[in-house]
Amino acid sequence: MKIKDLKKLGEFGLIREIQQRVGTAAHLVKGIGDDCAIQFQREGWELLTSTDLLVEGVHFNRQWISMEELGRKSAAVNISDIAAMGGQPKSLFLAVACPIEIPVTELEQFITGFLAVAEEHGAILAGGDTCRSLGPLLISVTVQGEVETGCAICRDGAKVGDAIYVSGTLGDSAVALTDFLAGRNPEEALLQRHNRPEAKVVLGRQLANGKLASAMLDVSDGLLSDLGHILEESGVGAEVELSSLPLSEPFRRRLQEAPELIDLALTGGEDYELLLTSPHQGLSEMAFEGGKLTKVGAICRQPGLNIRQADGSLYRCSRGGFDHFS
Ligand code: ADP
Ligand code: MG
Repeated sequence: MKIKDLKKLGEFGLIREIQQRVGTAAHLVKGIGDDCAIQFQREGWELLTSTDLLVEGVHFNRQWISMEELGRKSAAVNISDIAAMGGQPKSLFLAVACPIEIPVTELEQFITGFLAVAEEHGAILAGGDTCRSLGPLLISVTVQGEVETGCAICRDGAKVGDAIYVSGTLGDSAVALTDFLAGRNPEEALLQRHNRPEAKVVLGRQLANGKLASAMLDVSDGLLSDLGHILEESGVGAEVELSSLPLSEPFRRRLQEAPELIDLALTGGEDYELLLTSPHQGLSEMAFEGGKLTKVGAICRQPGLNIRQADGSLYRCSRGGFDHFS
């Protein structure tokens, strides 16, 4: 790209740049370039749609994440919502409100990261909107995916006696953010979890195809908060075993220095792991292509969410999950 100044490149110059970098997809009759994208809808499949906002200063700080990683993350956290339903992502729509002083090269890096993650999941950028921002960089991503009719895994299906599972490890992203906020540089493994989250599409598809989960969502606001959504929608309660939470090696090391960090595994956001309930009690022992599951508790009749310590006593968490307005 020869023009480095967004003002010179202009809105349509930028859109053309983006358009030139996007390929084709079988389901896309028409992508970027018209008033609407046109998509072919397969018989026997349902359409899933979700939107996410990423606002500079609220969701990210440009000093802590590269534009390429921000592009990756913008696509990944959105695709994660399709994974959380057991769906296959198909099309992405990217709306950007951009401060005029951001160099075009940085926007190109953003697009590079965004398109790389889309491609990793077999999804295509099918449209969007572009304008100037007089304030922060603002990114809105809409994703559409599909799932076999009747196979989407919703939040309202948890039943008494179901086991509760979570994929991967919890709290790593939140420790990295805590470090940044304290003026420290997080160690690489934790930083990766924060800046390069991965959508668990393959695992979500396996769970949907195998009809293995009764309820599911992705952990974006913390385990307790997100499990709370399942409990509320399903009209049940839960018991979670504190000692069974899946924790990474770097997280465990930090925990030795500061035991109170355990609350970040319970309430820290942006893990983008899958949290699910299932009548099957042995999923932790199953080998899934898309990642490992850990059993962390069980669904019970009595409403509310209890966290049990190894000695059987109840644990009181000092923090709540993430809420934008409180
Ligand atoms: P409209 O006037 O209908 O909003 P635009 O001129 O904004 O159309 O957009 C022209 C085409 O470029 C549309 O197909 C739109 O979806 C696409 N587009 C605009 N901005 C983006 C973007 N940031 N990423 C991907 N596609 C975009
Ligand atoms: Mg427009």
